[in-house]
Amino acid sequence: MSKESEFKSRYPHRGAGGRLIVIGGGAAGFFCAVNAARMNSGLEVIILEKTNKLLSKVKVSGGGRCNVTHALFDIIEMSKRYPRGQNFVKKTFHQFFTTDTIEWFKTRDVNLKAEEDGRMFPVTNSSQTIIDCLLNEANSYGVEIRMNSEVKEVKANNLQFEVHLANGELLAANFVVIACGGYAKTSMFQWLQNLGHTISEPVPSLFTFNLPKHPITQLMGVSIEKARVKIEGSKLVEEGPVLITHWGLSGPAVLRLSAWGARELSVRSYDFTVHINWLPAYNEQSLKEQFQSFRNSNSSKKIINHNFGFLPNRLWQFLIEQSGITSETRFADLPSKTENILIKNLVDYVVEVKGKTTFKEEFVTAGGINLSEIDANTMMSKKIPNLFFAGEILDVDGITGGFNFQHAWTTGWIVAKAITQNK
Ligand SMILES: Cc1cc2nc3c(=O)[nH]c(=O)nc-3n(C[C@H](O)[C@H](O)[C@H](O)COP(=O)(O)OP(=O)(O)OC[C@H]3O[C@@H](n4cnc5c(N)ncnc54)[C@H](O)[C@@H]3O)c2cc1C
Repeated sequence: MSKESEFKSRYPHRGAGGRLIVIGGGAAGFFCAVNAARMNSGLEVIILEKTNKLLSKVKVSGGGRCNVTHALFDIIEMSKRYPRGQNFVKKTFHQFFTTDTIEWFKTRDVNLKAEEDGRMFPVTNSSQTIIDCLLNEANSYGVEIRMNSEVKEVKANNLQFEVHLANGELLAANFVVIACGGYAKTSMFQWLQNLGHTISEPVPSLFTFNLPKHPITQLMGVSIEKARVKIEGSKLVEEGPVLITHWGLSGPAVLRLSAWGARELSVRSYDFTVHINWLPAYNEQSLKEQFQSFRNSNSSKKIINHNFGFLPNRLWQFLIEQSGITSETRFADLPSKTENILIKNLVDYVVEVKGKTTFKEEFVTAGGINLSEIDANTMMSKKIPNLFFAGEILDVDGITGGFNFQHAWTTGWIVAKAITQNK
């Protein structure tokens, strides 16, 4: 029996309510497809995926654990985690929020747990649990999945669509959802611009800072629980964990800066100056005062062995060395000029960033389809009726922590509901 006739016998009413084509077999596409098929048994739902893999980002996300969402239950607070699309998500989250994601998966026997930093993962600690759940759901509701099916062009004509595939095939549809993820280059958006949509230029977000040949990279693996990182000549500043890597700086504070500064740092060609306060509870003045009393009570001791402020020892030793202090110098013998240099290095250590590295754990594209062209209540194009958008293809992106998947689930669900109500 051919695949098509097998579908017809399993789902005899499929198609009576029209055909929905979902372009992209990622988180947003799957969530939209399975919900649309469940909400509307007459709708024929087809996912077209250009590669031979489904849900590939779900698979690798969160180090193979899938950071499904974030344990934040206030829409305003949640929206503050989106450098682009903040006002848009404020509207979309009213329809499907973090609580709904948790409940949706729970109803399907997938329980999520929150970690201390708020990131939520399946209790199995395996992204395969999420993939299996979505594949089961697709199977239960008769979603047809076609891999190796790249869409080259979509033509809209009087509420009917022609979907052209790279292999020459042509499919007709009543509804089309573009859920093809973020595109790194402007040229890749051409087939969507042909539909009359405009884009905000894509730039990478969630990257780490390169410090080529900087001596601090010898400290690779050292992590600082809380540092303040500021980008010179901008308002960009973040406080939080910083990780020193063999190529430069990483960790949540740096990744957040990269997200908030995605456009500005791209304009600067990733060439900028960073100021790090390793002891953010202090500024130069307050540290001077504190250091003075520390110095007086430890005067006969060697500086290198008396780590002020509980910094990682390797960092303390490095900063001592960078300040021109020998391993033998005692607090009593520290010249005030050198003390000033040490204090400056502790609260205002300056490094020159030259280049970026995309974070292996999680990266997204900032930019995409302009939000002014999309109705946030339905995710429908304001230019072409029955054409919808979901997920990262939109000009919405979050910082690291499960925010990008939440946007994918939310928008996928809204499309499913809108199509069902539209019918
Ligand atoms: C390594 C990594 C780890 C991540 N970890 C996390 C995390 O832990 N938490 C979090 O919130 N976010 C994470 N993200 C971001 C998150 O994965 C994305 O924001 C999310 O997957 C976007 O979902 P999407 O469905 O919009 O796009 P995608 O998941 O990118 O799916 C789009 C699909 O469309 C297909 N496609 C594209 N063009 C066409 C076409 N013309 N025809 C047919 N198919 C097409 C693509 O092949 C792809 O399969 C991570 C990203 C990466 C790269």
